[in-house]
Parts: sequence; structure tokens; C-alpha cells
Amino acid sequence: MDTIKENIKKILDELPDGVELVAAAKARTPEQVNQAVEAGIKIIGENYVQEAEKAFNFLGKKARWHFIGHLQRNKVKKAIRIFDMIETVDSMKLAKEIETRAEREDLVMPVLIEVNSGREEQKFGVFPQDVEEFARKIAEFDHLKLQGLMTMGPMVGDPENARPYFVETRKVFEKLKKLSIPSAEMKYLSMGMTNSYKIAVEEGANIVRIGTKIFGPR
Ligand SMILES: *Cc1c(COP(=O)(O)O)cnc(C)c1O
Repeated sequence: MDTIKENIKKILDELPDGVELVAAAKARTPEQVNQAVEAGIKIIGENYVQEAEKAFNFLGKKARWHFIGHLQRNKVKKAIRIFDMIETVDSMKLAKEIETRAEREDLVMPVLIEVNSGREEQKFGVFPQDVEEFARKIAEFDHLKLQGLMTMGPMVGDPENARPYFVETRKVFEKLKKLSIPSAEMKYLSMGMTNSYKIAVEEGANIVRIGTKIFGPR
């Protein structure tokens, strides 16, 4: 068995039922991404539209495609033709642009709100205390389908240090669920990467995004 296949098998074997694995594909070749799909990956996560296009041209709809990077507004038009979900809606301007472009393409784009759970000024995402208001607004857009939250959390050495950020994001997620915002469907909580996904799952993640542990070091 090749390494990518072994790595994926290991991760899939240990992930609890109901947790979806996104293969974070940044800096990997379309061939590597294809290998991952052949080994059982159902969802590819891409940080860059241009890189995604190359892999998408190679694989097409053999997998589902999630956008997990910071989406520039001038890339939205291309992005909505490739992606099945945009996990990283991080500003109202971006949400509006997706709404406009999706309406033109006559489609409804599933989205997650990116939560800046570390409240880091230099990072993208909506601060935890602002998520409710943001969610209520974007739920009113006819061509966005709000389906949950995503967070990165600050870069921390020991993954245990990431736990409080996952806990806080989970709390916001549960609160939004209880609000039953019309036309929102709060069902996905995307948290955790190679270092931190086990902790993220313990804290309620049902999407994990893993790159290094699948493909090796970048
Ligand atoms: C790169 C990346 C990942 C995966 O990171 P690894 O540490 O390689 O598993 C997950 N999420 C996002 C948003 C990323 O950019």
C-alpha cells in the first residue's frame, strides 16, 4: 500500500461515525489529490482557487470540493463553479459577493462562517461575539445556505492549548442551533487539523481538515 493510502486508512479507522474528513490539499499536485480520492477521500479542501482549478480539471466531480482559505472577492465567480461548500465566509462583503454571483449562476451555495476564535486582529474571521448577528444577516440571502461554523484557532505549540478555542466555537454553534434561524441549518462544525483534530472531535467537530497527516510534510 502506498503511504497516502495507509495514512488515510488510519485516520478513517479512528474517526468516529458522523465525522467527515476533508483532505487539505494545499501545495499538493493533482496526482496526489487523485491518489487520496482513490484511497477513499470524499471531500477535498482547497485554499487557493487557482490550485483548486488544476485539481478540479484533473478530478472533476469524483470528489466534493470545500473552499477553506481566505476567498478574495475577485475569485468568487470561479469559486462558485468549483466548490460544493465555502467554509470560510469571513466578512459581509464576501457574503454579498457570493450572493450576487450565485444568483447569476442560479445556484445556492452552502457556506460556513469562519469564526476567529482567537480574536486575532491579523487573522480573518468573525469574532465569536459577532457571529449571531452575522449569521442572522447572511441567512437572509437567498443564494447562500448557512450550514454551520468553521474555525482555525491560533497557532499553538501543544494542541491541548487549542481546546479552549474549540470549546468556545462549539458554544456559539450550539447557541445558533437553538435559535433556529429561518433558512439556516446549523449542522456542520469544522475544526481541527493534523495536530489538533483529535481534540477538535472531542469538542464536537464533525468536519476535520487534515493535510500533513495524509500527504506528509509540505
Ligand atoms: C493547511 C490547512 C489545514 C491542514 O493543515 P495540516 O496541519 O497540514 O493538517 C486545515 N485547515 C486549513 C484552513 C488549512 O489551511
